[in-house]
Amino acid sequence: VVDRQECERIRELFTAAIDRASSEIEEASVRRHLRSCAECAEAYDAHRAVARGLAQQPLVRPRSHPLPPHVRFRSQLYAVAGLAVAGGAVALVVLAR
Ligand SMILES: [Zn+2]
Repeated sequence: VVDRQECERIRELFTAAIDRASSEIEEASVRRHLRSCAECAEAYDAHRAVARGLAQQPLVRPRSHPLPPHVRFRSQLYAVAGLAVAGGAVALVVLAR
């Protein structure tokens, strides 16, 4: 059973860490949580893909998502934006080859 508050905390940690490209995260606790929580692992991958995509393609920005603004689970927005941007980044990489 996954504690939702733990999910929020973990996501705060890894989004901040990825954004800063910092290794000074509580990496052990993040990784431990990601192993036990598929949802956070997915969010982590998506966010990392966004961060990488932005680093490689500075002009690419996640588009605002058509979900209603009252959607509270910010991490879901990250995940959706991440998938969209990751898809675009992959397409660019493939085209560039
Ligand atoms: Zn979680």
